[in-house]
Amino acid sequence: MLVYNQEELARFVEEAKQYARYGKVADYIPALGKADPNELSIAIYTPDGRVVDAGDVTVKVTLQSISKIIALALVLIDRGEDEVFHKVGMEPTDYPFHSIAKLEEKPAKPLNPMINAGALVVTSMIQGGSVSERLERLLAFVRRLAGNERISYSDEVARSEFETAFLNRSLCYFLKQHGMIDEDVEELMDLYTKQCAIEMTCIDLARIGLVLALDGRDPCSGEPLMPLDVARICKTFMVTCGMYNSSGEFAIKVGIPAKSGVSGGILAAVPGRCGIGIFGPALDDKGNSLTGVKLLERLSKTHSLSIF
Ligand code: GLN
Repeated sequence: MLVYNQEELARFVEEAKQYARYGKVADYIPALGKADPNELSIAIYTPDGRVVDAGDVTVKVTLQSISKIIALALVLIDRGEDEVFHKVGMEPTDYPFHSIAKLEEKPAKPLNPMINAGALVVTSMIQGGSVSERLERLLAFVRRLAGNERISYSDEVARSEFETAFLNRSLCYFLKQHGMIDEDVEELMDLYTKQCAIEMTCIDLARIGLVLALDGRDPCSGEPLMPLDVARICKTFMVTCGMYNSSGEFAIKVGIPAKSGVSGGILAAVPGRCGIGIFGPALDDKGNSLTGVKLLERLSKTHSLSIF
């Protein structure tokens, strides 16, 4: 089994940090604008239960778009592939994650569940009687995947996004007009912004990555936390759409199923080998962690982690 070396990891983190000056912290969600662009941390979780980390891994990161992969897994378990893919497609896009453009073409079905339009449809399919019940179901699932009962969401970040999410509201109204969502838009925005504000450390992120890397099995007990097919679909979307409209370049340079969020988080799953969690809030122009991608590129090349 591959054993990652702490000193090497710390060195890679310092090297990747040099790129922070070329990135920019997301500030369209005001609360995210407070992050320090020079922050960079990583945790690698291996199937033997070992964690190797570097940087300050006690810092919590909100999931943002990383939550899209977890919500998708839950909804696939709840409703099955046919119902989910009736409302959201499977194709990557070279439009930005918040684009409305493609919805103008008929049918107004979002291209995939990793862009905001698709994620809003997926979140609207989370089952439960009320927003709080649906959020609790999602949180319970996240806690099981991370093996951490204390995970919750940041009220400050959720509120900050809720108050400023005019673009996402527009997507919702567009989707509602075309019958892709039924529910009240403010309720959906309430649930979606809380989903995006679920926060955890890089170690938690890495643990979730490891569950996906192990085809949905709990790394300690071996118990299935999601069906094999659901884990497979999630990892496939992570490869084709996980890094927004630079997923192709990422596949060539890094080659690891991964999902990023505008908080600067990345969740990566190296099949059979490890889960990786990263927090580096300096973003590139597509909204991916610039330092995080540099770090993953270095790791992947050094340890031949590409799946291709
Ligand atoms: N909450 C963010 C949004 O909807 C998530 C986007 C992202 O991380 N790319 O804008």
